[in-house]
Amino acid sequence: MNNWFTVEQIDKDTYAISEYGHWEEPHSYLLLGEEQAVIIDTGLGVADIRKEAEEITGLPISAVTTHVHWDHIGGHGLFDSFAVHENEISWINGGFPLPLSMVRRDLARPPRGLPEGFDENTYKVFQGEPSRILRDGDIVDLGGRQLRVIHTPGHSPGHCCFYEEARGYLYSGDIAYMGCLYAFYPSTDPKAFYQSIKKLEGLEITKILPGHHSLVVSNSIICDISKGFAMIEQNGGLAQGRGEFDFGCFKIHI
Ligand SMILES: [Zn+2]
Ligand SMILES: [Zn+2]
Repeated sequence: MNNWFTVEQIDKDTYAISEYGHWEEPHSYLLLGEEQAVIIDTGLGVADIRKEAEEITGLPISAVTTHVHWDHIGGHGLFDSFAVHENEISWINGGFPLPLSMVRRDLARPPRGLPEGFDENTYKVFQGEPSRILRDGDIVDLGGRQLRVIHTPGHSPGHCCFYEEARGYLYSGDIAYMGCLYAFYPSTDPKAFYQSIKKLEGLEITKILPGHHSLVVSNSIICDISKGFAMIEQNGGLAQGRGEFDFGCFKIHI
């Protein structure tokens, strides 16, 4: 499990903790405030992300969730408290809408690996009781540092972005990244996804910190994704099952 995580410092008190060994290349973000630290998502749950975070800070760390997909909540159980949007409480309480066999298959899918000695057949999707319920507009206060919760459904019903207005940082989860954006499976909603992207368009953004893949993301990607959805809508509608649309640095699969 040595070096499973890659830690990259974004600024003096913000870190990306990434799992590049896995094909999904998920990112969690550790944000240090004056009183506490927050980790946005906790990755796949195949190695000890709390230990990794505690090597960076001695502050108490609580977790917040962009959305309750298994690859974003894997390490939630390692932390004393975590927050989830109200629309996904049932998912984190055991109602995750994907069979465990499918999750294990996705987890172990080639070409990328898992930590040495990790057996995917023992993997379980995290379940637990959130200590805080998130709603649109809520503030997560770290002491001297604040995050605003922006409810951005579409990829999942309780998906949230976290916006740090003072720095112009948008932690975008699975709504915007350099890769294929997913709104094709039953629990997704392409129309809501488009509305969520539009909701983000008015924000002053200096940096996008995505849920997957490259950490280098152009700030124009929000606008570009919005244009992509507009184009799909004009050419036949935002209906599930229409397939994959390739826009160069991102794709939209509905
Ligand atoms: Zn997701
Ligand atoms: Zn994801």
